[in-house]
Amino acid sequence: MATTSVATDKKTKFTVFTIEECPACGQKTKRPFQTGDYITKDGAKCAKCGNQTRISLIYAEATKPA
Ligand SMILES: [Zn+2]
Repeated sequence: MATTSVATDKKTKFTVFTIEECPACGQKTKRPFQTGDYITKDGAKCAKCGNQTRISLIYAEATKPA
């Protein structure tokens, strides 16, 4: 039997992040996930060149308290 301690560890918190990517210059912006976000949805204006960004990735990061 394999032991899976991560799944039952209640101290492990997951924070969901959204990555907005600019199709023009490739600038990627990481921000906290907001309800309604989905991949290919329009993001904010690119901070670098002003183009419309698109959400390219949504993922969860495990954050363990120190
Ligand atoms: Zn850009």
